Amino acid sequence: MRKLDKNAVFNIAIKSILFITASAGCFCLLKLLLGIPVIISAVISVIFALLLVLLFSFLLRYTSFYFGYYSFVSAFLHKDRYGNVFCPCCNKYFSHFHDEQYYSDDKHFNPSMFRKSRQDVICDFCRSAPRHRIIAEWAEQNIEILKRSRILYFAPELSMMLWFRRHNINVKTADLFDRRAELKLDLTALDIPDSSVDIVFCNHVLEHVDDYLQALSELHRVIRKDGMLVISFPIDSGSDHIRQEPTASAEERIRLYGQYDHLRIFGKDSRDMLENAGFEVSTIDIGNMPENIVPEDGPSDFDSNMVFVCVRK
Ligand SMILES: [Zn+2]
Repeated sequence: MRKLDKNAVFNIAIKSILFITASAGCFCLLKLLLGIPVIISAVISVIFALLLVLLFSFLLRYTSFYFGYYSFVSAFLHKDRYGNVFCPCCNKYFSHFHDEQYYSDDKHFNPSMFRKSRQDVICDFCRSAPRHRIIAEWAEQNIEILKRSRILYFAPELSMMLWFRRHNINVKTADLFDRRAELKLDLTALDIPDSSVDIVFCNHVLEHVDDYLQALSELHRVIRKDGMLVISFPIDSGSDHIRQEPTASAEERIRLYGQYDHLRIFGKDSRDMLENAGFEVSTIDIGNMPENIVPEDGPSDFDSNMVFVCVRK
């Protein structure tokens, strides 16, 4: 059985407290101060409290992207200034990182692909996975370049957004579906001019788009010569080539690629694929990174956390 997730417990607890206090307060106001009959006061109070909880849920959903509010209690519980692990994305120490228990969710993931790698790798506060912390460490080392660059960030994630904001680095965020992003852009048909961007961050997007080669071609078009593409995607270290089956159902995709919304899984020839798209390719070296950011494989077997830094030729 899936263990209770502390974020879910917090979520339920805070909404319950909000519901009880709002309905009690409203009832007292209606019945005691205004003298409205008990039944009518009770019905109005319950409806009012429900609407308030719905509004709160809505706000929580949209603010959590920017502030990590959703998980701040669990982060507080594990926060430890002398802790064993450090998240460079949100700049916080913790006693340990969080096990998100993907292996328990067989509706969205293939549990058998979450067995070989370490699982306690997710930051409680900003939800960073190892690849985010690896990118944040790389960004720290390249901060002067980032400060003077026009940056486009596809499918922005809270963890790296916190890092960019803390360092006062401007990024344009883009996504086709997420309305919180500043630009609505299709990665396979980018509505921006040629050579107009210095650096693109594109973390775990290529496995979701219909035509990944067209996406790479578009990225190559919009990045200026000698500009950079920082990109990562799921890689099956046991497969020489990309695996994709265009007609696969959601159930088959879970079995084949590990996750319901992944259309493919990349292979050991990923570097060749990026070079063929017109980039000079290197990978971020995690050998010298601090151990306390846990720059490891995982949480899934296909999260090799290999991050490519591609210079546009
Ligand atoms: Zn963090």
